This record gives sequence, C-alpha cells and structure tokens, in this order.
Amino acid sequence: MGKLDDIVSLCKRRGFIFPGSEVYGGMAGTWDFGPLGVMLKRKIMDAWWKYFVEDREDMYGVDAAILMNPRTWVASGHVDTFNDPLVECKSCHGRFRADKLADGLNESVTTEEFLAAGAKCPTCGKSDWGEIRKFNMMFSTHVGPVADETSVAYLRPETAQGIFTNYKNVVDTIYPDLPFGLAQQGKAFRNEISPRDYILRDRECSQMEIEYFVAPGTWEEHFEKMLAASHDFLENVIKLPASAIHELEVVPEDRAHYSKRTVDIEFDYPNGREELMGLAYRTDFDLSNIARESGKNMDYRDKNTGEVFVPHVIEPSIGVERLILAVLASAYAEDEVGGSSRVVLRLPETLAPYRFCVSPLLKNKPELVSKAQEVYAALRAKYGNVTWDDSGNIGKRYRKQDEIGTPKCVVVDFDTLEDGTVTVRDRDSAEQVRIKPEQL
Ligand SMILES: [Zn+2]
Repeated sequence: MGKLDDIVSLCKRRGFIFPGSEVYGGMAGTWDFGPLGVMLKRKIMDAWWKYFVEDREDMYGVDAAILMNPRTWVASGHVDTFNDPLVECKSCHGRFRADKLADGLNESVTTEEFLAAGAKCPTCGKSDWGEIRKFNMMFSTHVGPVADETSVAYLRPETAQGIFTNYKNVVDTIYPDLPFGLAQQGKAFRNEISPRDYILRDRECSQMEIEYFVAPGTWEEHFEKMLAASHDFLENVIKLPASAIHELEVVPEDRAHYSKRTVDIEFDYPNGREELMGLAYRTDFDLSNIARESGKNMDYRDKNTGEVFVPHVIEPSIGVERLILAVLASAYAEDEVGGSSRVVLRLPETLAPYRFCVSPLLKNKPELVSKAQEVYAALRAKYGNVTWDDSGNIGKRYRKQDEIGTPKCVVVDFDTLEDGTVTVRDRDSAEQVRIKPEQL
C-alpha cells in the first residue's frame, strides 16, 4: 500500500487526478479527473453497474435531475437535520467542525461537551471558542431570474431522493415484483466545512446508490444478502484485499436520521481506516415522508396476495472517489527490477486504463514501425483500450507503463520480422516471453 503523498504525486504526474481549477489556484474540496483517471473511474462505475444492475433480474436504473423540487429536502429531513456542528475560534476567527477537534465527540456535540473536551484551535493554538451552531451542508442556489426565498433550490446532497421520487413512476410503468431495486449513479454535493484527505472528503462527489424495496417483514434477510453482495463486489470484482476491508456496526447515536440499522464497510486507507461504503436499512421513512408531503399514494399491492403496504428499503451507497482511492492505494507499490527501483500500479487487468502498450523497439526503423502498427491495430480492434508508445528508450517506456498500471507491454523487434513473434513483458513480474500476437 502506498503513502497518500506518493499516490497524490503519481496521480498528478501521470494524468489521473488534478486539483480542481488548478490554473486559478484551485478550489478547496474539488478534484478533476484527467485522461487516465477518467478511464479508471468509468471502468469502476461500469463494473458496479454490470454487477448490481445488468447481471441481476431484480434491478433497474434511473438517472434523475440534480436539481429537485425543494420540498424533496423538507420531506427527506435534510433541511432540518443535514447539519454539522460549526464552531468559531474567537481569537483568529477560524471556523471548524467541532466534532473533529477532540476525540470522543460526535456530530450532535453540545457547546458544553465541546468546551469540556478542552480542544485547542488548530490554527492559532488558543482555546477561546464561541457557541456551536448548526451548519447545513446543502449547497443552495436560485432557480430562474429572481433570487428570493421562493426560488431557492439545492444541489442534491444525495442521489437517493432522485430514486425515491421516481418509485411510483417505476411501479406504475413496469410493474416490478417485490423485492426490486432502483440504481443510480451521479453527482452529489456537500458543503463540507473542512474538506480534507484528498478525494475522500470532497465537496462534490459521484455516488452509486441502490434503493432496494422489500416487504416490511423481510428486511433482515435482504440486508444480509446485500451485505454479502457488497463484499463480493469489492473483493472479487474490484479485487480489493479482503484483509483491508472491515465491517462497522454503526451505533444508534451515530446513525443517519433515517436509518434503523447501518453497517459501514471501512477500508484501511493510507491515512487510516475510513468509511468506503454504507449499507442502511431506511425502513419506509422516505416513501412515507413523500406520501405525506406530496399527498400521493406510495402503496405497493402484492400481485399474489393482494396485500397492500409501503415497501421498506435497504440502501447500499458507495462514493466513487472513495472506491477509486481504495483501488489506487491497493495497487500502488515500489519495488526493484533489474537492480533499479520503480513505482508500479498493480491494477487488476479489468480496471487498468490500458490493457496493452505496443511499441516498435526502434522508432527510426520503418519496417519495425509498420509491423508494430499492424499489431497495435489488431489489439485495438480486439480490446479497445490499447496504447502506443515509441518515445524514449524501451526501459523508460516500461517505467511509464508500470506507473500507469498497464499489465502487458508488447514490443516488435527484428526477430518479429523473421518469425512473427513479439516480446510480451509482464508488469508485475517484469518477465518477458516471446509469443505470436494472435495469442494475446
Ligand atoms: Zn484560532
């Protein structure tokens, strides 16, 4: 596992992840994906979609608008409860999340509890605090030309409500049998007081969420199945090391306002153990709130028994950036090849931005170049994500492909012209074999 600084540096150097709006000095809590990063990100998101939606018969997708009727966030409880405890240092006027300044505090910390903890200001070192106030983390904006309180809207703080508000549309149009799930991938926004830990706690993130609708008495069974599926996905599809994945049963006082049971799946990140994804039993909280706020019926009628009820919900929710950092941290390694040290990203073949890199041994030999281009075109037609590199010497090309995680480098040399075989060099072992390109 790599250190965070090394991963940040590699990601910038090789075009995976850049600081957001860097040319203007950046913007805290935002990150941009470069050419290599966007390939990795899409592969991870596609793998999730295939595993949880396409390969199952009980899952459907939706893609809802980011801007939603503001009543959504009243009904969901976000207007009232999506708060962090904010405290200001009276000496330097720095503002901080109170619960992060001392051990043993949680999000519902009171001013008295906070003062008793004796925290010092991280900026000036003094201990001269104001009252804690609730800070709502939703980004607000105005819709239309008039900026008054009737035009306030929010950038969605979770993708879940875009699913819940379409539950009735889906039931009325495709009549799915219970249990069934609605999946969505998309952006969510949180006005974090202090974004930190690289892409772990950013203000704008991509989520992959499922609302899995079940009959009320069956939630425990489906919760366990979804937990098992989550482990299977992380360990066998994304291939994160099982030893770095841990379950945390979230205690009632730390659970979100809507949840009756939550298990956080945590990961051993370079800077410590942190949440990777959450699995929450949301009861009928959301659908019942929507029914109350909208006056519309959210009942489900069982086709076999005729029973009518509001379904309960199991929600697996994973942040794409959190998953990307787990993948990068697991893949990052430094070792020695042929007496010199190198950095290598041991990405699974299915996630690596490029599957093969093709090069001619020498770029000033037209017969090598044209043969290499033939091999390159054939591999591209077969796999799509194949890259070409004829820069520098062969050693430098290998170093570069190791750093971006390309599993195999294919080199066309003079023997190729004789017997049609190419050198295939393996990223992880650095071993080389000679085979015909058709065997790849
Ligand atoms: Zn201060």
